[in-house]
Amino acid sequence: MKEQRNGLLLVVSGPAGVGKGTLDKALMERNNRIKMSVSATTRAPRPGEVEGVHYFFKTEEEFKAMVDQGEFLEYMHVFGSNYYGTPRSFVEQHLANGYDVILEIDVQGAMKVKQAFPDAVLIFITAPSMSEIKSRLIGRGTESMEQVEKRFATAFEEVKMIPRYDYVIVNDVVDKAVHHMEAILEAERCRVSRSSDLIESFMEIGR
Ligand code: 5GP
Repeated sequence: MKEQRNGLLLVVSGPAGVGKGTLDKALMERNNRIKMSVSATTRAPRPGEVEGVHYFFKTEEEFKAMVDQGEFLEYMHVFGSNYYGTPRSFVEQHLANGYDVILEIDVQGAMKVKQAFPDAVLIFITAPSMSEIKSRLIGRGTESMEQVEKRFATAFEEVKMIPRYDYVIVNDVVDKAVHHMEAILEAERCRVSRSSDLIESFMEIGR
């Protein structure tokens, strides 16, 4: 039997401001076999964002060169202006080494990943209601009212995609939401479809 199984590829999406980052961070703090992929983007850093931690910040030329070199697992032009992409090598290496990898990406990117990796587990994080999503966007205080409106319209487009996800988590109490994520991971690790090596080993001994 293979010594080590591949890690799980988790795709986490949800409207801006619902706390995806907080949940992912809490999940990683509780489990050292989980790694977070760091995306590349052409958008400007927000106050407090650190190169290589929150994103790899690129110019459009640099980003397009990475596209040409095939360095992205998926990439997207979001909000009509900025590019965002998932660097391929980090994800592939860590999965092969048995780490679970989280991609925090938008709904379009999630669909592309699911096509390329049907085994990926898609989790949608949301606030309890659309009005709560709006107040969290405003409360964040990092964007102009015009940007908030734009993001709210995007949020509505995003929630329409929930039926294409495997799981949906309402983030009202952080601890509870993290517990749901852990439960999903546990269940996914026990899937028969992920246990072919184990099943094969039983068959061999019975022969
Ligand atoms: P923000 O600008 O708020 O950091 O991110 C805007 C949106 O881009 C979010 O929905 C976020 O999940 C998404 N995003 C971040 N990185 C990637 C990526 O690598 N690929 C795709 N498709 N979306 C991403």
